[in-house]
Amino acid sequence: MSATGRLVIEGCAVATVDAASTEHAAGHVVVEGDRILAVGAGPCPEEFGPAVLVDGRGCLATPGLVNCHHHLYQWITRGLAQQGTLFQWLTELYPIWARLDVDMEAAAARAALAALLVSGCSTTTDHHYLFPAGAGDLLAAEVEVATGLGIRFHPCRGSMDLGRSQGGLPPDEVVEDPDAVLAATEAAIDRFHDPAPEAMVRVAVAPCSPFTASGELMRRSAELARRRGVRMHTHLAETVDEEAFCRERFGRTPTEYLDELGWLGDDVWLAHCIHLDDGAVRRFGATGTGVAHCPSSNARLGAGMARVADLLAAGAPVGLGVDGAASNEAGQLGPELRQALLVARLRGGPAALTARQALALGTAGGARCLGRAGELGSLEPGKLADVALWRLDGPGHADV
Ligand SMILES: [Zn+2]
Repeated sequence: MSATGRLVIEGCAVATVDAASTEHAAGHVVVEGDRILAVGAGPCPEEFGPAVLVDGRGCLATPGLVNCHHHLYQWITRGLAQQGTLFQWLTELYPIWARLDVDMEAAAARAALAALLVSGCSTTTDHHYLFPAGAGDLLAAEVEVATGLGIRFHPCRGSMDLGRSQGGLPPDEVVEDPDAVLAATEAAIDRFHDPAPEAMVRVAVAPCSPFTASGELMRRSAELARRRGVRMHTHLAETVDEEAFCRERFGRTPTEYLDELGWLGDDVWLAHCIHLDDGAVRRFGATGTGVAHCPSSNARLGAGMARVADLLAAGAPVGLGVDGAASNEAGQLGPELRQALLVARLRGGPAALTARQALALGTAGGARCLGRAGELGSLEPGKLADVALWRLDGPGHADV
């Protein structure tokens, strides 16, 4: 809609996901420009005057979902390495990914972002860490696609410098030189990052993982991010293989290793964080380090079940992610709410996570991970008008 128009959604159930978990069985949401003007029970009061009306009857209005972890390019390599562990899966896919170019990136981004949008997602990250020589401007390609589709976008300029010859997992032809990585990352911040509250594009700094990025690159990346005031993202503690790698190479758990490198803090969110001991869970809570929980991907790769209930109890921000479509196949965020609930209950019993908590992970929790809790993640006056409407009048909800 235009930046100045007023729009009223009326007759819908409303789950605001505000701090008091306010809900209305039948309510309204008033939007002006890109902001929420009012939310309440019953019909929209007349004081809000003429507006474009959206008939919300039969629907539930929630905040637009926030996807905290993705690799858009993987859309074009779905279905491969079906029975592999993470390391086997990566080793099979790296040579295919090494042939990525701008046209493939744009096509993959278009499909993956559309899959998110139709599943109620209005804000997404992309962790792009693969920049084969001569592939073209991959980050610009996906920013252009996201802008065209109208989704709020946080591209994370990823990187790998620890090739196989240096003891890392990826083949040498897909890794970059650390100086080149940092220069390209800073250039991406200059070109695309918008610190404004209503920003549609924000950039994060995101070396790939402890087994693909060197300690030097991790440390220098953190310095760059903090100097420029942007957020930091990477993978952590996804598998027992990673834990073994870190213990053997660094004599540390993955969390201890990242902590030493300056990679825990309230400006950081990390994907997966499955294999955490009690001390690590406490450290996440104490530092405010966010977690992007990716239940479908974790199940697909048999990686394990994250300690979501424990992390929430410790006070850590927890959001949801679909992860790349090569380890998810579907790439829709709506179903991840259900997956998060089911996985939490497999791990901790039927009271481990409620449906409302699962919705909060996918909305307010995600907004916290991205440092946008003041702008996104709940339906409240003054927040950005990212609203998802879910149909409740189909057979799937009859009699529930
Ligand atoms: Zn990932």
